[in-house]
Amino acid sequence: MPEAAQVRSFIDDAVRWRKTGDEALLLRLIRSSCSGVPHDVGAAYATLAGRTGDLLDAIDRGRLALPPPDRDRVLLFARRARLVRDSNSEGEALRSVVADAFEVQERVILSAVEGRHAPAATQGAVELGEPVAREEGGGVPRWQKHFSASALNAYGECARKWFYRYACAAVEDPGSSASAYGTAFHLALEDFHGDFPRPRSTDRSAMRHRIRECVTWAFERNRDGFETRVEFELQVRRAQRTAQRYVDWFLAQEREAPFEVLGREVSAELDLEGRAFVGFIDRLDRDERTGDIGVVDYKTGSIATSAAEYGEKVRRFRDFQLPFYYWARTAAGDRVTKLVLIPLKDALLDVRPVVLEVGKTIKLDDLKRSRQKMIELSTVLASGEIRRFEPTDNAAACTYCAYQAACADKPPAEAQRFGS
Ligand code: SF4
Repeated sequence: MPEAAQVRSFIDDAVRWRKTGDEALLLRLIRSSCSGVPHDVGAAYATLAGRTGDLLDAIDRGRLALPPPDRDRVLLFARRARLVRDSNSEGEALRSVVADAFEVQERVILSAVEGRHAPAATQGAVELGEPVAREEGGGVPRWQKHFSASALNAYGECARKWFYRYACAAVEDPGSSASAYGTAFHLALEDFHGDFPRPRSTDRSAMRHRIRECVTWAFERNRDGFETRVEFELQVRRAQRTAQRYVDWFLAQEREAPFEVLGREVSAELDLEGRAFVGFIDRLDRDERTGDIGVVDYKTGSIATSAAEYGEKVRRFRDFQLPFYYWARTAAGDRVTKLVLIPLKDALLDVRPVVLEVGKTIKLDDLKRSRQKMIELSTVLASGEIRRFEPTDNAAACTYCAYQAACADKPPAEAQRFGS
Protein backbone atom coordinates (compact mmCIF):
# COMPACT_ATOMS: atom_id res chain seq x y z
CA MET A 1 0.00 0.00 0.00
CA PRO A 2 1.36 3.44 -0.82
CA GLU A 3 2.02 5.89 1.99
CA ALA A 4 -0.02 9.08 2.24
CA ALA A 5 3.02 11.11 1.10
CA GLN A 6 3.36 8.94 -2.00
CA VAL A 7 -0.29 9.43 -2.78
CA ARG A 8 0.05 13.21 -2.41
CA SER A 9 3.07 13.30 -4.69
CA PHE A 10 1.29 11.03 -7.23
CA ILE A 11 -1.70 13.37 -7.30
CA ASP A 12 0.63 16.40 -7.61
CA ASP A 13 2.32 14.80 -10.63
CA ALA A 14 -0.99 13.87 -12.25
CA VAL A 15 -2.33 17.40 -11.82
CA ARG A 16 0.83 18.90 -13.33
CA TRP A 17 0.71 16.39 -16.20
CA ARG A 18 -2.87 17.32 -16.98
CA LYS A 19 -1.92 21.01 -16.98
CA THR A 20 1.38 20.81 -18.91
CA GLY A 21 1.12 17.57 -20.90
CA ASP A 22 4.73 16.89 -19.88
CA GLU A 23 5.32 13.24 -20.91
CA ALA A 24 8.09 12.87 -18.27
CA LEU A 25 5.42 13.28 -15.59
CA LEU A 26 3.29 10.56 -17.16
CA LEU A 27 6.29 8.22 -17.16
CA ARG A 28 6.76 8.97 -13.46
CA LEU A 29 3.09 8.21 -12.85
CA ILE A 30 3.24 4.74 -14.38
CA ARG A 31 6.31 3.90 -12.29
CA SER A 32 4.60 5.03 -9.08
CA SER A 33 3.27 2.49 -6.60
CA CYS A 34 -0.07 4.33 -6.89
CA SER A 35 -0.39 3.58 -10.61
CA GLY A 36 -1.86 0.10 -10.12
CA VAL A 37 0.80 -1.23 -12.52
CA PRO A 38 3.46 -3.68 -11.23
CA HIS A 39 6.71 -1.78 -10.83
CA ASP A 40 8.75 -3.81 -13.35
CA VAL A 41 6.01 -3.49 -15.97
CA GLY A 42 5.66 0.26 -15.36
CA ALA A 43 9.44 0.70 -15.59
CA ALA A 44 9.58 -1.29 -18.84
CA TYR A 45 6.83 0.80 -20.43
CA ALA A 46 8.44 4.02 -19.17
CA THR A 47 11.76 2.99 -20.77
CA LEU A 48 10.06 2.12 -24.04
CA ALA A 49 8.02 5.33 -24.14
CA GLY A 50 11.14 7.32 -23.21
CA ARG A 51 12.46 6.27 -26.62
CA THR A 52 9.27 6.36 -28.70
CA GLY A 53 7.70 9.42 -27.03
CA ASP A 54 4.06 8.44 -26.48
CA LEU A 55 3.26 6.20 -23.53
CA LEU A 56 -0.51 5.94 -24.01
CA ASP A 57 -0.11 5.12 -27.68
CA ALA A 58 2.50 2.45 -26.83
CA ILE A 59 0.01 0.91 -24.38
CA ASP A 60 -2.83 1.05 -26.94
CA ARG A 61 -0.65 -0.78 -29.41
CA GLY A 62 0.34 -3.38 -26.82
CA ARG A 63 4.01 -2.75 -27.59
CA LEU A 64 5.12 -5.02 -24.75
CA ALA A 65 4.02 -8.65 -24.69
CA LEU A 66 2.58 -9.11 -21.19
CA PRO A 67 0.64 -11.81 -19.39
CA PRO A 68 -3.11 -10.97 -19.38
CA PRO A 69 -3.33 -9.69 -15.75
CA ASP A 70 -0.45 -7.24 -16.30
CA ARG A 71 -1.81 -6.17 -19.66
CA ASP A 72 -5.19 -5.46 -18.01
CA ARG A 73 -3.52 -3.32 -15.36
CA VAL A 74 -1.61 -1.32 -17.95
CA LEU A 75 -4.75 -0.76 -20.02
CA LEU A 76 -6.58 0.32 -16.86
CA PHE A 77 -3.79 2.80 -16.14
CA ALA A 78 -4.12 4.26 -19.65
CA ARG A 79 -7.88 4.56 -19.25
CA ARG A 80 -7.50 6.32 -15.91
CA ALA A 81 -4.83 8.66 -17.28
CA ARG A 82 -7.15 9.66 -20.12
CA LEU A 83 -9.95 10.34 -17.65
CA VAL A 84 -7.64 12.76 -15.88
CA ARG A 85 -6.36 14.28 -19.11
CA ASP A 86 -9.88 14.84 -20.44
CA SER A 87 -11.24 16.30 -17.21
CA ASN A 88 -12.24 19.97 -17.21
CA SER A 89 -11.90 20.29 -13.43
CA GLU A 90 -9.40 22.52 -11.69
CA GLY A 91 -7.93 22.91 -8.20
CA GLU A 92 -9.28 20.59 -5.51
CA ALA A 93 -11.88 19.21 -7.90
CA LEU A 94 -9.09 18.07 -10.23
CA ARG A 95 -7.24 16.45 -7.33
CA SER A 96 -10.43 14.55 -6.53
CA VAL A 97 -10.71 13.44 -10.15
CA VAL A 98 -7.20 11.97 -9.95
CA ALA A 99 -7.86 10.35 -6.59
CA ASP A 100 -11.15 8.86 -7.77
CA ALA A 101 -9.75 7.69 -11.10
CA PHE A 102 -6.80 5.89 -9.53
CA GLU A 103 -8.68 5.02 -6.32
CA VAL A 104 -5.70 6.22 -4.34
CA GLN A 105 -7.47 7.90 -1.43
CA GLU A 106 -9.43 4.76 -0.87
CA ARG A 107 -6.20 2.81 -0.60
CA VAL A 108 -4.83 5.16 2.05
CA ILE A 109 -8.01 4.84 4.08
CA LEU A 110 -7.92 1.07 3.72
CA SER A 111 -4.30 1.12 4.75
CA ALA A 112 -5.17 3.08 7.85
CA VAL A 113 -8.06 0.77 8.64
CA GLU A 114 -5.87 -2.29 8.25
CA GLY A 115 -3.26 -0.73 10.51
CA ARG A 116 -5.84 0.01 13.18
CA HIS A 117 -7.25 -3.49 13.20
CA ALA A 118 -4.01 -5.36 12.79
CA PRO A 119 -3.92 -6.61 16.40
CA ALA A 120 -7.49 -7.89 16.15
CA ALA A 121 -6.64 -9.70 12.98
CA THR A 122 -3.78 -11.49 14.70
CA GLN A 123 -6.27 -12.71 17.30
CA GLY A 124 -8.45 -14.22 14.61
CA ALA A 125 -11.19 -11.55 14.88
CA VAL A 126 -12.82 -10.38 11.71
CA GLU A 127 -14.43 -6.98 11.36
CA LEU A 128 -16.54 -6.25 8.36
CA GLY A 129 -16.14 -2.84 6.81
CA GLU A 130 -18.94 -0.60 5.64
CA PRO A 131 -20.30 -1.62 2.25
CA VAL A 132 -18.97 0.53 -0.55
CA ALA A 133 -21.41 2.12 -2.94
CA ARG A 134 -21.37 0.61 -6.39
CA GLU A 135 -19.31 2.63 -8.82
CA GLU A 136 -21.20 4.36 -11.63
CA GLY A 137 -20.58 2.73 -14.99
CA GLY A 138 -18.83 4.98 -17.50
CA GLY A 139 -18.65 5.25 -21.26
CA VAL A 140 -15.77 3.89 -23.29
CA PRO A 141 -13.13 6.61 -23.74
CA ARG A 142 -13.85 8.59 -26.83
CA TRP A 143 -12.22 7.48 -30.05
CA GLN A 144 -9.54 10.02 -30.89
CA LYS A 145 -7.91 8.48 -33.94
CA HIS A 146 -8.90 8.52 -37.56
CA PHE A 147 -11.81 6.49 -38.90
CA SER A 148 -11.92 4.03 -41.75
CA ALA A 149 -14.68 2.49 -43.79
CA SER A 150 -13.68 -0.96 -42.55
CA ALA A 151 -14.04 0.18 -38.91
CA LEU A 152 -17.57 1.40 -39.64
CA ASN A 153 -18.29 -1.84 -41.50
CA ALA A 154 -17.18 -3.75 -38.39
CA TYR A 155 -19.46 -1.56 -36.24
CA GLY A 156 -22.34 -2.12 -38.65
CA GLU A 157 -21.78 -5.85 -38.55
CA CYS A 158 -21.44 -6.08 -34.77
CA ALA A 159 -20.94 -3.23 -32.30
CA ARG A 160 -19.35 -5.62 -29.80
CA LYS A 161 -16.77 -6.63 -32.39
CA TRP A 162 -15.90 -2.96 -32.94
CA PHE A 163 -15.47 -2.59 -29.19
CA TYR A 164 -13.11 -5.57 -28.95
CA ARG A 165 -11.08 -4.67 -32.00
CA TYR A 166 -10.88 -0.91 -31.91
CA ALA A 167 -11.58 0.19 -28.33
CA CYS A 168 -9.81 -2.62 -26.46
CA ALA A 169 -7.45 -4.21 -28.98
CA ALA A 170 -8.52 -7.18 -26.83
CA VAL A 171 -7.10 -10.03 -28.84
CA GLU A 172 -4.49 -9.78 -31.46
CA ASP A 173 -6.01 -11.25 -34.59
CA PRO A 174 -3.22 -13.39 -36.02
CA GLY A 175 -4.91 -13.43 -39.43
CA SER A 176 -5.73 -16.47 -41.50
CA SER A 177 -4.63 -18.03 -44.74
CA ALA A 178 -7.61 -16.26 -46.35
CA SER A 179 -6.31 -12.86 -45.27
CA ALA A 180 -2.75 -13.79 -46.36
CA TYR A 181 -4.18 -14.83 -49.74
CA GLY A 182 -5.92 -11.48 -50.09
CA THR A 183 -2.82 -9.51 -49.12
CA ALA A 184 -0.63 -11.42 -51.57
CA PHE A 185 -3.10 -11.15 -54.44
CA HIS A 186 -3.50 -7.40 -53.96
CA LEU A 187 0.27 -7.04 -54.00
CA ALA A 188 0.59 -9.09 -57.18
CA LEU A 189 -1.99 -6.94 -59.03
CA GLU A 190 -0.40 -3.75 -57.78
CA ASP A 191 2.90 -4.82 -59.34
CA PHE A 192 1.29 -6.16 -62.48
CA HIS A 193 -0.48 -2.90 -63.30
CA GLY A 194 2.73 -1.00 -62.69
CA ASP A 195 3.97 -2.69 -65.88
CA PHE A 196 0.66 -2.97 -67.71
CA PRO A 197 -1.63 0.01 -67.08
CA ARG A 198 -3.66 -0.52 -70.28
CA PRO A 199 -5.25 -3.62 -71.82
CA ARG A 200 -3.50 -4.32 -75.13
CA SER A 201 -3.87 -7.59 -76.97
CA THR A 202 -0.36 -7.17 -78.41
CA ASP A 203 0.95 -7.58 -74.83
CA ARG A 204 -1.02 -10.77 -74.25
CA SER A 205 1.84 -13.23 -73.74
CA ALA A 206 4.02 -10.70 -71.87
CA MET A 207 1.10 -10.07 -69.52
CA ARG A 208 0.52 -13.76 -68.87
CA HIS A 209 4.18 -14.28 -68.10
CA ARG A 210 4.45 -11.18 -65.91
CA ILE A 211 1.39 -11.88 -63.79
CA ARG A 212 2.74 -15.35 -63.08
CA GLU A 213 5.94 -13.78 -61.79
CA CYS A 214 4.03 -11.20 -59.75
CA VAL A 215 1.90 -13.88 -58.05
CA THR A 216 4.93 -16.05 -57.28
CA TRP A 217 6.84 -13.17 -55.77
CA ALA A 218 3.88 -11.74 -53.81
CA PHE A 219 3.05 -15.11 -52.25
CA GLU A 220 6.69 -15.73 -51.34
CA ARG A 221 6.66 -12.44 -49.49
CA ASN A 222 3.58 -13.52 -47.55
CA ARG A 223 4.62 -17.12 -47.00
CA ASP A 224 4.46 -16.73 -43.20
CA GLY A 225 0.71 -16.13 -43.40
CA PHE A 226 0.08 -19.76 -44.39
CA GLU A 227 0.21 -22.40 -41.71
CA THR A 228 1.61 -25.27 -43.74
CA ARG A 229 3.61 -25.74 -46.87
CA VAL A 230 0.73 -27.65 -48.46
CA GLU A 231 -1.68 -24.82 -47.74
CA PHE A 232 0.78 -22.36 -49.25
CA GLU A 233 1.24 -24.40 -52.43
CA LEU A 234 -2.50 -24.91 -52.88
CA GLN A 235 -3.21 -21.20 -52.49
CA VAL A 236 -0.44 -20.23 -54.92
CA ARG A 237 -1.94 -22.55 -57.54
CA ARG A 238 -5.38 -21.15 -56.95
CA ALA A 239 -4.02 -17.61 -57.29
CA GLN A 240 -2.15 -18.44 -60.51
CA ARG A 241 -5.30 -19.79 -62.12
CA THR A 242 -7.37 -16.82 -60.96
CA ALA A 243 -4.69 -14.38 -62.18
CA GLN A 244 -4.85 -15.84 -65.69
CA ARG A 245 -8.62 -15.37 -65.69
CA TYR A 246 -8.04 -11.81 -64.54
CA VAL A 247 -5.78 -11.23 -67.57
CA ASP A 248 -8.54 -12.64 -69.82
CA TRP A 249 -10.95 -10.08 -68.41
CA PHE A 250 -8.41 -7.26 -68.61
CA LEU A 251 -7.67 -7.95 -72.29
CA ALA A 252 -11.38 -8.05 -73.12
CA GLN A 253 -11.68 -4.47 -71.88
CA GLU A 254 -9.59 -3.24 -74.80
CA ARG A 255 -12.64 -3.76 -77.00
CA GLU A 256 -15.46 -3.31 -74.51
CA ALA A 257 -14.43 -0.34 -72.35
CA PRO A 258 -10.78 0.71 -72.76
CA PHE A 259 -9.28 2.33 -69.70
CA GLU A 260 -5.99 3.29 -68.16
CA VAL A 261 -4.91 2.43 -64.63
CA LEU A 262 -4.17 5.82 -63.07
CA GLY A 263 -3.21 4.71 -59.61
CA ARG A 264 -2.62 1.66 -57.43
CA GLU A 265 -3.01 1.59 -53.64
CA VAL A 266 -4.05 5.22 -53.76
CA SER A 267 -4.32 6.95 -50.41
CA ALA A 268 -7.87 8.15 -49.71
CA GLU A 269 -8.37 10.89 -47.12
CA LEU A 270 -11.58 12.64 -46.29
CA ASP A 271 -12.61 15.11 -43.64
CA LEU A 272 -16.25 14.65 -42.68
CA GLU A 273 -17.28 17.51 -40.41
CA GLY A 274 -14.04 17.35 -38.49
CA ARG A 275 -13.70 13.56 -38.48
CA ALA A 276 -10.73 12.28 -40.42
CA PHE A 277 -11.32 9.18 -42.55
CA VAL A 278 -8.43 7.38 -44.22
CA GLY A 279 -7.99 4.34 -46.44
CA PHE A 280 -6.38 3.01 -49.58
CA ILE A 281 -8.05 2.47 -52.93
CA ASP A 282 -6.87 -0.66 -54.72
CA ARG A 283 -7.03 0.88 -58.15
CA LEU A 284 -8.17 4.06 -59.91
CA ASP A 285 -9.10 3.82 -63.61
CA ARG A 286 -9.65 6.53 -66.19
CA ASP A 287 -12.10 5.75 -68.98
CA GLU A 288 -10.23 6.44 -72.23
CA ARG A 289 -13.37 7.55 -74.03
CA THR A 290 -14.87 9.92 -71.46
CA GLY A 291 -12.08 10.68 -68.99
CA ASP A 292 -14.38 9.61 -66.13
CA ILE A 293 -12.89 7.92 -63.09
CA GLY A 294 -13.68 4.44 -61.82
CA VAL A 295 -12.84 3.33 -58.29
CA VAL A 296 -11.91 -0.35 -58.10
CA ASP A 297 -11.76 -2.65 -55.11
CA TYR A 298 -10.35 -6.19 -55.38
CA LYS A 299 -12.22 -8.79 -53.37
CA THR A 300 -10.70 -12.17 -52.59
CA GLY A 301 -13.44 -13.16 -50.14
CA SER A 302 -17.20 -13.50 -50.50
CA ILE A 303 -18.92 -10.39 -51.83
CA ALA A 304 -22.21 -9.22 -53.22
CA THR A 305 -22.84 -10.96 -56.53
CA SER A 306 -24.68 -8.10 -58.22
CA ALA A 307 -24.84 -4.31 -58.26
CA ALA A 308 -28.34 -4.52 -56.80
CA GLU A 309 -27.13 -6.64 -53.88
CA TYR A 310 -24.22 -4.32 -53.11
CA GLY A 311 -26.47 -1.26 -53.49
CA GLU A 312 -28.81 -2.75 -50.91
CA LYS A 313 -25.91 -3.15 -48.47
CA VAL A 314 -25.07 0.51 -48.96
CA ARG A 315 -28.68 1.53 -48.40
CA ARG A 316 -28.84 -0.54 -45.21
CA PHE A 317 -25.55 0.96 -43.99
CA ARG A 318 -23.83 -2.42 -44.00
CA ASP A 319 -20.97 -1.32 -46.25
CA PHE A 320 -19.27 2.05 -46.41
CA GLN A 321 -16.19 1.20 -48.44
CA LEU A 322 -17.11 2.27 -51.97
CA PRO A 323 -19.20 5.25 -50.79
CA PHE A 324 -16.18 6.43 -48.78
CA TYR A 325 -13.89 6.10 -51.83
CA TYR A 326 -16.45 7.89 -53.95
CA TRP A 327 -16.54 10.90 -51.62
CA ALA A 328 -12.78 10.91 -51.08
CA ARG A 329 -12.05 11.03 -54.81
CA THR A 330 -14.88 13.48 -55.49
CA ALA A 331 -13.39 15.77 -52.84
CA ALA A 332 -10.04 15.37 -54.62
CA GLY A 333 -11.63 16.76 -57.81
CA ASP A 334 -12.32 13.56 -59.77
CA ARG A 335 -15.56 12.92 -61.66
CA VAL A 336 -16.27 9.44 -60.35
CA THR A 337 -18.87 7.60 -62.38
CA LYS A 338 -18.16 3.96 -61.56
CA LEU A 339 -17.64 1.97 -58.39
CA VAL A 340 -16.34 -1.50 -59.12
CA LEU A 341 -15.83 -4.67 -57.09
CA ILE A 342 -13.65 -7.29 -58.75
CA PRO A 343 -14.24 -10.80 -57.37
CA LEU A 344 -11.03 -12.83 -57.24
CA LYS A 345 -12.06 -15.66 -55.00
CA ASP A 346 -12.94 -18.50 -57.29
CA ALA A 347 -10.30 -19.86 -59.67
CA LEU A 348 -12.95 -21.82 -61.57
CA LEU A 349 -15.07 -18.83 -62.57
CA ASP A 350 -14.46 -16.09 -65.09
CA VAL A 351 -13.77 -12.68 -63.57
CA ARG A 352 -17.01 -10.70 -63.70
CA PRO A 353 -16.81 -7.36 -61.90
CA VAL A 354 -19.77 -5.94 -60.02
CA VAL A 355 -20.12 -2.45 -61.49
CA LEU A 356 -22.18 0.30 -59.89
CA GLU A 357 -22.75 3.25 -62.16
CA VAL A 358 -23.34 6.41 -60.18
CA GLY A 359 -26.77 7.83 -60.91
CA LYS A 360 -27.89 4.57 -62.53
CA THR A 361 -27.25 1.36 -60.60
CA ILE A 362 -26.48 3.33 -57.45
CA LYS A 363 -28.31 6.58 -56.75
CA LEU A 364 -26.44 9.68 -55.71
CA ASP A 365 -28.95 10.04 -52.86
CA ASP A 366 -27.88 6.66 -51.50
CA LEU A 367 -24.25 7.79 -51.53
CA LYS A 368 -25.24 11.01 -49.77
CA ARG A 369 -27.15 9.11 -47.10
CA SER A 370 -24.18 6.82 -46.61
CA ARG A 371 -21.94 9.87 -46.15
CA GLN A 372 -24.34 11.30 -43.58
CA LYS A 373 -24.39 7.98 -41.73
CA MET A 374 -20.59 7.95 -41.65
CA ILE A 375 -20.70 11.33 -39.94
CA GLU A 376 -23.36 10.16 -37.46
CA LEU A 377 -21.54 6.93 -36.55
CA SER A 378 -18.15 8.58 -36.21
CA THR A 379 -19.69 11.25 -34.00
CA VAL A 380 -21.21 8.62 -31.72
CA LEU A 381 -17.97 6.64 -31.55
CA ALA A 382 -15.98 9.79 -30.81
CA SER A 383 -18.40 10.91 -28.07
CA GLY A 384 -17.12 8.55 -25.39
CA GLU A 385 -20.71 8.14 -24.24
CA ILE A 386 -21.47 4.62 -25.46
CA ARG A 387 -21.97 2.49 -22.38
CA ARG A 388 -22.78 -0.81 -24.00
CA PHE A 389 -21.74 -2.30 -27.31
CA GLU A 390 -24.45 -4.75 -28.30
CA PRO A 391 -23.48 -8.13 -29.76
CA THR A 392 -24.93 -8.97 -33.14
CA ASP A 393 -28.00 -11.18 -33.38
CA ASN A 394 -26.68 -12.65 -36.63
CA ALA A 395 -24.83 -15.85 -35.68
CA ALA A 396 -23.22 -16.03 -39.12
CA ALA A 397 -21.17 -12.92 -38.25
CA CYS A 398 -19.58 -14.83 -35.36
CA THR A 399 -18.28 -17.73 -37.46
CA TYR A 400 -14.86 -16.23 -38.17
CA CYS A 401 -14.83 -13.64 -35.38
CA ALA A 402 -11.48 -13.50 -33.56
CA TYR A 403 -13.25 -12.53 -30.32
CA GLN A 404 -15.54 -15.54 -29.99
CA ALA A 405 -13.73 -16.91 -26.95
CA ALA A 406 -14.14 -13.63 -25.05
CA CYS A 407 -17.66 -12.87 -26.18
CA ALA A 408 -20.06 -14.21 -23.55
CA ASP A 409 -23.16 -12.66 -25.13
CA LYS A 410 -22.79 -13.93 -28.67
CA PRO A 411 -25.91 -15.46 -30.22
CA PRO A 412 -26.16 -19.26 -30.29
CA ALA A 413 -24.71 -20.89 -33.39
CA GLU A 414 -27.17 -21.84 -36.12
CA ALA A 415 -26.66 -25.54 -35.45
CA GLN A 416 -27.50 -25.08 -31.76
CA ARG A 417 -30.64 -23.15 -32.55
CA PHE A 418 -32.11 -26.05 -34.47
CA GLY A 419 -30.74 -28.80 -32.27
CA SER A 420 -32.96 -31.19 -30.21
S1 SF4 B 1 -18.52 -13.40 -31.40
FE1 SF4 B 1 -20.27 -12.54 -32.57
S2 SF4 B 1 -21.36 -11.20 -31.10
FE2 SF4 B 1 -19.29 -11.57 -30.28
S3 SF4 B 1 -18.03 -9.90 -31.02
FE3 SF4 B 1 -17.78 -11.55 -32.50
S4 SF4 B 1 -19.34 -11.14 -34.06
FE4 SF4 B 1 -19.90 -9.92 -32.27
